[in-house]
Amino acid sequence: MTAYRADHLLLDTGWVSPGYIDVAPDGTIATAGPLLIEGAEPIAGYVIPGMPNLHSHAFHRGLVGYVDRLAPGFAVETLWSWREAMYRFMLALDPDDMEALAAQAYLDMLRSGFTSVAEFHYVHRQPDGRPYANPAEMSERIVAAARTVGIGLTMLPVLYASGGIGQPPLHEQRRFLLDLDGYLSLVETLRPQVMVGIAPHSLRAVPADLLLRLLRAVPEGPVHIHAAERTEEVEECRAGLGAAPVEWLLAKAGLDRRWTLVHATHVTDAEREGMARAGAIAGLCPLTEANLGDGRFRLRGYHRAGGRFGIGSDSNTLISAADELRMLEYGQRLHHRLRNVVVTPGDEATESPGRVLFDGARRGGAQSLAQPVGAIAPGLRADLVVLDDEAPALLGQTPRTVLDAWVISGGMAGGNPVRDVMVGGRWVVRDRHHEAEDTIRARFATVMRRHHP
Ligand SMILES: [Zn+2]
Repeated sequence: MTAYRADHLLLDTGWVSPGYIDVAPDGTIATAGPLLIEGAEPIAGYVIPGMPNLHSHAFHRGLVGYVDRLAPGFAVETLWSWREAMYRFMLALDPDDMEALAAQAYLDMLRSGFTSVAEFHYVHRQPDGRPYANPAEMSERIVAAARTVGIGLTMLPVLYASGGIGQPPLHEQRRFLLDLDGYLSLVETLRPQVMVGIAPHSLRAVPADLLLRLLRAVPEGPVHIHAAERTEEVEECRAGLGAAPVEWLLAKAGLDRRWTLVHATHVTDAEREGMARAGAIAGLCPLTEANLGDGRFRLRGYHRAGGRFGIGSDSNTLISAADELRMLEYGQRLHHRLRNVVVTPGDEATESPGRVLFDGARRGGAQSLAQPVGAIAPGLRADLVVLDDEAPALLGQTPRTVLDAWVISGGMAGGNPVRDVMVGGRWVVRDRHHEAEDTIRARFATVMRRHHP
């Protein structure tokens, strides 16, 4: 056992100051609470649960700076013009590139307070469309990057079969394509290595009958799908399937707690209520949704209905747990023209938007990833983040205010207060440094120079 004494420790029941944690040799939390443990190692600052990141396309990290301009042939910039640039970049990547990009993205995640990630991974084949000698090559590079960095991983190999409802795949989508047998075999190859879920890409990319066959073939574990990110997609589903994406999933796919609906931006009140009742997770990616001009999820009514949500860094344009939560909060404020729209009075856990958003996202994220994380409690994995009480953004704060200060003022853009990070009982970031950071950065730099000459 290794015991720690935190100045301030966030438990499910609230803050304790000081708080003690005993970490078992297998990396899980044995005990956590206010009871004194003799000889415990002191941790200065605020110890909070690591945040699960429920949606990432790691290689998109390499697009930063190269996609924010008017694309040739497009009159306006949207997800669809961005996608052309992304496809060009993606078609040139080899397995070493994929691993290098993922390692840098995952390192950035740890440093910002994410301790686990669900990787929605869709590049399976060689650039010419043939399978790799090892069909799991690209997926295994993601697993290798996560191991190098030491971040928790839920691997979501993506099933991708069509270029739109009733449309053949585009030539540019040739690296994504698998039939159901090939897909299930990839899932089976990965299962002994890592937590695996299934990820039908979207109702545009997976025909309805194929999706239902997939669900029958894999009756357990996480299911992630992109849904209702754009109004064009909603219209296409209405025309092709007779229902909006979330409406169709509620009626036909048996939504429940296994499901994460990534984005769910353009949904009706009835669809939001259906998601809340089903216990499914709204997979919100506020920075990416802002970057792509997609729109914003309406959180207030959903939250009041008990709807569950988590956050994802998706395109990895800016990787930061606190910045995602701030974008989420500010989107709501701009929409309602009110402040603090998710709070309710009378309780330390409900009166602070930072706390409400942090608690919601850590719990929803843990459910989404199907990992024993998201809280500091016995039996869960010891995934901890230490916020530096000496960081400028947190000076003068108290447990009651610190999560508001972090979310509003202390993300990557505000002088990052994340000082130390533990995953599975092991310190992976100490004093803001990771033991492999120089190698990871050098490999990432090589990929960036090669693909963006
Ligand atoms: Zn996505």
